[in-house]
Amino acid sequence: MAYRLAIVGYGGMGTWHQENVMERVKEIQLAGVYDIRKERQQAAIERGIPVYESLQQVLADPTVDIVTIATPNNFHKEIAIQALRAGKNVISEKPVTMCAEDLEDIMAVAKETGRLFSVHQNRRWDKDYCIIKKILADGTIGQPYFIESRVQGSRGPLHGWRGFPENGGGMVLDWGIHLLDQMLDLIDSKVVDVNAHLFSIHTPKVDDNFKATIRFENGVSYLVEVATNCFINHPRWHISAKDGTATVEDWDCGGKIVRLADNQELEWEDVIVYTAAGPTRTMAPRPQETTQQLDLPEIQTDWSDFYRNIAAVLDGTQQLIVRPEQCLRVMKVVDAIFLSQKLGTSVHTEI
Ligand code: NAD
Repeated sequence: MAYRLAIVGYGGMGTWHQENVMERVKEIQLAGVYDIRKERQQAAIERGIPVYESLQQVLADPTVDIVTIATPNNFHKEIAIQALRAGKNVISEKPVTMCAEDLEDIMAVAKETGRLFSVHQNRRWDKDYCIIKKILADGTIGQPYFIESRVQGSRGPLHGWRGFPENGGGMVLDWGIHLLDQMLDLIDSKVVDVNAHLFSIHTPKVDDNFKATIRFENGVSYLVEVATNCFINHPRWHISAKDGTATVEDWDCGGKIVRLADNQELEWEDVIVYTAAGPTRTMAPRPQETTQQLDLPEIQTDWSDFYRNIAAVLDGTQQLIVRPEQCLRVMKVVDAIFLSQKLGTSVHTEI
């Protein structure tokens, strides 16, 4: 069965949802779009897309099954609650809300109305992320103990509403949400400690750069970093695990796995090794035969699978992949990040 979807907020991401739904997901048809700004309504008309004149008109349309919210962050909660109460299934763009408490309010209404509610955490389908997920699931490098996940650019000040706290601006709520959502999807353990450093280098009112270290109950530690002022990037991913190391360099997914070669025990020798670092056995290079280099696994991914899952859930044939309870954990980590920054210390958590 095909479901009809209306998009509220027809800016950058609203346009992506429209093109994606119209061109790639046969299970969902576009009913139309609504944007508060006349010029965006006009842009839709010029593309031959049906345009609603108000949110009320969207919600009153009985042919609309799903509402996707792609407005600035501060409007997500209010629109989601109105749409759920109007009997619509709702997809919110990330960050679903600006704090955990607001998401709990939406979840209560979703429960009361019995409608589907999900969040567009499309980066669970990113190729780089899926490669890392597979390496860890396959045990290729053994048990991980420190994971570094970074997105770094150097374009400086945040643009438009992203520069203002009242709109939910800043990088924790922007790219941070994606990286934290991936983190909680990857590590099956409780978050017990959060330590964050937020910086406003070019955007005075919000964080435009941040680093957060997150400690899990199972012993894994995780670094999440987003930079808009970085001129020499680290790899997108760097995984330290007991039996090896894996990197994914960037969005093109270059990178490698280097791990202990099978049956190659490394013995300590009495002879001191002289290296450029001076006499050191610990930091001396390994004999080459004791390690093995592997290519990253080949993986095909598709962001549109998010919508295919939504349609399948409504058909009753699949479980929801991006569940509100998972997004609530992400928002609790976000709350802890802001608290850690405010206090200037680590925050102990049970998330
Ligand atoms: P944008 O500024 O390009 O577009 C937002 C649009 O919403 C604008 O056209 C604006 O006129 C409209 N709008 C504002 N208030 C409205 C209201 N009350 N009702 C209807 N329309 C309203 O912003 P964007 O970059 O498209 O971001 C929109 C949302 O999408 C944000 O929540 C952002 O975090 C999210 N986003 C997600 C991804 C992703 O990969 N999942 C990528 C980019 C943006």
